[in-house]
Amino acid sequence: MNNDPNCIFCKIVTGAVPCFKLHEDSSTLAFMDINPFNPGHCLVIPKSHAADVFTIDEASMAATARSARVVATAVQATLKCEGMNLVQANGPAAAQSVKHFHIHVLPRRTGDEAKLNWMPSPGDMTAIGKLAEAIRRHITK
Ligand code: AMP
Repeated sequence: MNNDPNCIFCKIVTGAVPCFKLHEDSSTLAFMDINPFNPGHCLVIPKSHAADVFTIDEASMAATARSARVVATAVQATLKCEGMNLVQANGPAAAQSVKHFHIHVLPRRTGDEAKLNWMPSPGDMTAIGKLAEAIRRHITK
């Protein structure tokens, strides 16, 4: 189990920093976000430190996704949300503020204007196709 002594979420895992715990298993922890965008906003993390999706190991990623499903279902049963996003940020341009992998379980209300909502508009199919080809070359599994 990796632990970064300077990481706030690692400190939550060890109990050095308190949290409103929702769920825990051997490799994941879920707790309330203390700056909620909407009521019920919470976070699911692997206990073992990994900064982001590029460095997390497959087992931790799978375990965190499994827990996110359990927690999202409980939040939905509690709040009967109009909608819910599972959001996971990597890097500054994606607004990642805590560099310990986490999945936001984010209840949504119509018109709440969460900034990640973008307006879809038709893309350039040639450019999309070219990018798909380039990305496929980097798929390693
Ligand atoms: P992100 O900006 O995607 O990295 O999300 C980090 C989230 O962690 C933010 O929504 C913060 O409100 C939340 N957060 C930071 N510190 C704590 C803490 N000690 N307990 C609970 N949530 C926290």
